Amino acid sequence: MWQLFKYTMMSKVRFDAIAKSQERKYGGIEEKGKRSEQFATHVFNEEKMLQYLTRDAFASVKNAIFSASKIDRKMADQIAEAIKAWAISMGATHYTHWFQPLTGATAEKHDAFFDLLEDGRALEKFGGNQLVQQEPDASSFPSGGIRNTFEARGYTAWDPTSPAFVYGTTLCIPTIFVAYTGEALDNKAPLLRALQAVDHAATAVAKYFDKNVGKVNATLGWEQEYFLIDKALAYSRPDLTMTGRTLVGDAAAKGQQLDDHYFGVIPNRVLSFMSDLEQECTKLGIPVKTRHNEVAPNQFELAPVFEEANLAVDHNLLLMDVMEKVADRHQLKVLFHEKPFAGINGSGKHNNWSLATDTGVNLLSPGSTPMKNLQFLTFFINTIKAVDSYEELLRSSIASASNDHRLGANEAPPAILSIFIGEQLSNVLDELEGVSKGKLSPEEKTELKLNVVGKIPEILLDNTDRNRTSPFAFTGNKFEMRGVGSKTNCAKPMTILNTIVAKQLKDFKKEVDALVNKKSLKKDEAIFNVLREYIKTSKRIRFDGDGYSMDWEKDAERRKLSNNKTTPDALQVLTSEKSLDLFKSMQVMSEVEAKARQEVDLESYTLHLQIEGRVFNELVYSQIIPAALEYQNMLMKNVAGLKDIYGAAHQKLTDGQLGIIEQIAEHVNAIKKKTDAMTAARKNANTLKDITKKAIAYSSNVRPYFEDIRYHSDRLERLIDNQLWPLTKYRELLFIK
Ligand code: ADP
Ligand code: MG
Repeated sequence: MWQLFKYTMMSKVRFDAIAKSQERKYGGIEEKGKRSEQFATHVFNEEKMLQYLTRDAFASVKNAIFSASKIDRKMADQIAEAIKAWAISMGATHYTHWFQPLTGATAEKHDAFFDLLEDGRALEKFGGNQLVQQEPDASSFPSGGIRNTFEARGYTAWDPTSPAFVYGTTLCIPTIFVAYTGEALDNKAPLLRALQAVDHAATAVAKYFDKNVGKVNATLGWEQEYFLIDKALAYSRPDLTMTGRTLVGDAAAKGQQLDDHYFGVIPNRVLSFMSDLEQECTKLGIPVKTRHNEVAPNQFELAPVFEEANLAVDHNLLLMDVMEKVADRHQLKVLFHEKPFAGINGSGKHNNWSLATDTGVNLLSPGSTPMKNLQFLTFFINTIKAVDSYEELLRSSIASASNDHRLGANEAPPAILSIFIGEQLSNVLDELEGVSKGKLSPEEKTELKLNVVGKIPEILLDNTDRNRTSPFAFTGNKFEMRGVGSKTNCAKPMTILNTIVAKQLKDFKKEVDALVNKKSLKKDEAIFNVLREYIKTSKRIRFDGDGYSMDWEKDAERRKLSNNKTTPDALQVLTSEKSLDLFKSMQVMSEVEAKARQEVDLESYTLHLQIEGRVFNELVYSQIIPAALEYQNMLMKNVAGLKDIYGAAHQKLTDGQLGIIEQIAEHVNAIKKKTDAMTAARKNANTLKDITKKAIAYSSNVRPYFEDIRYHSDRLERLIDNQLWPLTKYRELLFIK
């Protein structure tokens, strides 16, 4: 009896969690009203500005958005008064500056509008000062040494290009987070600078084709993948709770091999979560559009209509926050980790990117006239050239401990960057490459315009999208960057991508202008000439084959493309002379800022692995080995009992048990040895002062043990009595009904 009680106790957490998850009942899905009528009701957008702001104040906000001009104090007071009135009418009691520290998530510190006057009367207060600038005492956020060096405090400053919104009872004001000395302490400030750089460079080039272009916006449409797990089950696993992924866990008999989840019927319980989530998003102005099941069981995707990149980044961060809150209400837990489960697909966040003019033209969309197509080819080829020149830097922008499980681990796109453009466009580039140097003969010009450039179909066939193994694919009217991690703040890849394209377009314009001025070529001749050179010099980045194959790795090495499989390796390029020159010349980051980001990311990598190492140790010693020994003891008692009864004849009855006893002993021995070795390697790594060396020690000396420990744990899970296994199993976690 006591024994039975003890067994029940051992896995009580697991069985309680399962019971709790099965108790839940889910009602039907309610969706009230037209979604378009609810869109952005909680956002202080242009419509509300017109309603609440004076004409002058409205003009000054619009100006700030269009040309990044400053808003003066008096105007700021007026705007603050208006936003307050609107926010209070929406039920807000507090306000917060909402910012993106280098941790990757968002941060907020709520203050009440409520204030007391000297005579004790209470009122709701919010002025220009509170709107424009705040000094959160946020000294615990990582700053990569910036604030220590300069002994400067950080402040948050309003970003008028992303509208304020009311979430729950709080007015949220999107802000940048900078040190008093001017260095950015966040992900948003460099992004805004990169977007400004690409605007200036692309506008200058777009003017070759249309003088009326006054501004170019980078556009971003992300596709957020995620897993949904029952909350009680998720919290029954210490590894999921502490690290966001399962460190151990034997694959369920059924995984994704039947392909029955992808685009399948969305389970009721999940649909009710999605419906609730989408209503929240709609109110907050996040234009969510598609939802579907992903490849792995319990994996889903949500994608919006694309937007201006800064706004899209904010919306993705807000979405992730809203998702966690809504899931909690539905007794679910969202996993954003790139690889929460071994043996089934991980999650990513494709970043679809393009450039759009204020005249309503998508610069990466082929058109109906030769001129429009020359414009398309200009931006298309310059993007290819930019990625070719800075492939390693672009790869570094998506590096993280969790994304290492995808990139460089034979899953999702590889760690090698390459571009897929499809057969049709490859042919066009081949033909352009044959153009003669210098002046073009009239025949050549006609041929080019009518038969090469003129023939790019307005809407490219969708088959350009067929290669799903490519990390950077042209998909008809945009590029799709596929290596971005599901947890990653899109600001990071978007900062780098827009910076390198800005630099490239600036160089391009210089070269074209020089040919026009010095060699007196016609503008379109000069453009053809420069593009032809780019096609030649950026060939190595184009690859249409299988990005997952071993052959490609070898081929890429011959092409001298980088293949940084781990985060510490990938991050080194951030502070190379070439990168620092780029950041400086595009005014995106100073050397101090770039170094700070490298330091913060290396530190974060080490910390993540350190936590995983500790959790492994805890799991092995306090859960896995005890469960294994408990079962081994049961078997030993059984063998001893049989021996008592049958004497010498017991042998043919106890063979099986003895075999299992021995297997358990082997795995217990091995798992203990590996865990101890891992802990020793960890302790060793911890003594290193240099952050790069420390991160590398974690990736080369500590991390390899994780696989070994997992292997033995998963073997033990298979051997041991289900009743005794302390951790909720994959088959229990992964099939929400
Ligand atoms: P798939 O899953 O096949 O990649 P989706 O339709 O899910 O395709 O995603 C396409 C994404 O591309 C959407 O998020 C959409 O908003 C985005 N997108 C479409 N056009 C553009 C554009 N011009 N700029 C940026 N993103 C775009
Ligand atoms: Mg996609």
